[in-house]
Amino acid sequence: MSTMKDFKAEKPTWCPGCGDFGVLNAMQRAAVSLGLEPENVAVISGIGCSGKMSQHFGGYGLHSLHGRSLPTAQAVKLANKNLTVMAAGGDGDGFGIGMGHFIHAMRRNVDITYIVMDNHIYGLTTGQASPTSDIGSTTKTSPHGTVEKPIEPLQLALSERCGFIAQGFSGDTKHLATLIEKAIRHRGFSFVNVFSPCVTFNKVNTYEFYKTGLVNLDEDEGYNNADRFEAMRRVSEANNLVVGVVYEDPAQTAYEDTVYGYPSESLVSMERGLKQEEYDRI
Ligand code: SF4
Ligand code: MG
Repeated sequence: MSTMKDFKAEKPTWCPGCGDFGVLNAMQRAAVSLGLEPENVAVISGIGCSGKMSQHFGGYGLHSLHGRSLPTAQAVKLANKNLTVMAAGGDGDGFGIGMGHFIHAMRRNVDITYIVMDNHIYGLTTGQASPTSDIGSTTKTSPHGTVEKPIEPLQLALSERCGFIAQGFSGDTKHLATLIEKAIRHRGFSFVNVFSPCVTFNKVNTYEFYKTGLVNLDEDEGYNNADRFEAMRRVSEANNLVVGVVYEDPAQTAYEDTVYGYPSESLVSMERGLKQEEYDRI
């Protein structure tokens, strides 16, 4: 039985207080809760402060190219269907240079989990406006405030009919761990966007900002996360400031099931109720 210690690796070099610590902790918690072992997990990261995730999470890992965590992670999964594969990166990496891969990964629906540490800034390069920076954000590249509309990751994923969409906050690692766990359990491509404050270069989207302003959809008993249009409406009403499972469509068929005709034999899939004999018959 694995423990948190098993999923610890190189000591993180993030700035003290960086939101990415909470994301790492939540990923480790989720892995332990699912009963995974480090040798059965691979974390593939892009470039940016968040790109260090593949070195800090104990397990297999690959620090790939800028914006290229998703094609790499999909290839890893297709080459070894028994691995639980997570791709990790930031808003600049994933919604800037990597945006094309994000959209096509949602279409393709390979059974991996994509975790984005969204801090609305380019942190590693010391504070430039990113694709999710709010209008008016003052940064090194926008000294008079940004004028471009920010990308809305949840609405984008909803419009692309991504089969599992959640949003979390790195200031609440317990809740975030449950979201990552559910995302990994989902069969097919799953997306978890995380408000992960950059304490050094973003003085607006801080822990305090999120602590008071988030709507928790998981605590709303009247919210139906199987209704995509309801999800779009609620996310829009809250100006994207929601956390919880925003949408899930368990009926979608993962790429590898469609193309190769077999389900993954990973521990998580085994938990979905298929017995070994049933795998063998397929
Ligand atoms: Fe985190 Fe920002 Fe420091 Fe990068 S620069 S490690 S995102 S706090
Ligand atoms: Mg960023």
